[in-house]
Amino acid sequence: ASPINEQLVLEFNIVPYGAEQYLLTVRDISQLKQLEQVRKDFVANVSHELRTPLTVLQGYLELMDDESVPDEKIWRKAHTVMLEQTKRMDGLVQQLLTLSRIEASARVQFEDKVDVPAMLAQLKLETESLNQEKQHHIQFKIDNSLYVTGVSEELRSAFSNLVINAIKYTPAGGDIQISWQRQHLSALFSVIDNGEGIAPQHVKRLTERFYRVDQARARNTGGTGLGLAIVKHVLSRHNSRLMIFSEPGQGSRFSFTLPAE
Ligand code: ADP
Repeated sequence: ASPINEQLVLEFNIVPYGAEQYLLTVRDISQLKQLEQVRKDFVANVSHELRTPLTVLQGYLELMDDESVPDEKIWRKAHTVMLEQTKRMDGLVQQLLTLSRIEASARVQFEDKVDVPAMLAQLKLETESLNQEKQHHIQFKIDNSLYVTGVSEELRSAFSNLVINAIKYTPAGGDIQISWQRQHLSALFSVIDNGEGIAPQHVKRLTERFYRVDQARARNTGGTGLGLAIVKHVLSRHNSRLMIFSEPGQGSRFSFTLPAE
């Protein structure tokens, strides 16, 4: 059977082979087909994700052209929505750029000593402003002596995607614990929340591009569906993988290890 797809796709060819003889060739093209499908889905998803905010923008721009709408409140609302949608498109394009940058640089230039504690201190500051609306109790437990080898930019993006998700998918006033600790010869990063949690059938698909448990709701939270795909990619380049433990209604734990310096 094909390694990445349980569906086996075979291509048969019959070519003349000497006098009155034929040669039958059989080629397993399951992987090619699968890659083609992934590419098609990706283009369709990107187009859809960009089209939705564009449709909203277009609607409001048309409204602005309508002189029979004098109400200032409507203009304010239009302005807010247009700004939100532009930010959403910007977020999506940023994530796509991050993903393609990671994919494009085949040879990774590892830095000897990535200052993860400084990176997480910066992330802590950033989460304070992100957390104003939901007022979660966020706890950082950082081992300040713990460094790793790797690519700073990429690791930063992995840490922040996981922390931002915990904030987004936990109802207001939740508990979030972020830790960076030594575990034997490794450095363990984990984000634990007591948020909505994820059902097992979704857990295994979370790192697929554009996969979201609840499309509509995730979109309202400003999600692109690319965050965990980026995390997975970054970690695989660092010879690591994302571990997800989650229980619906109880919360989730996203973690990974890297060799400690
Ligand atoms: P998004 O941009 O939609 O957040 P991600 O790739 O980062 O995309 O996450 C994919 C999906 O995984 C989210 O839409 C959400 O349904 C689910 N998810 C991610 N993190 C959490 C979490 N901490 N708690 C519950 N669900 C989560």
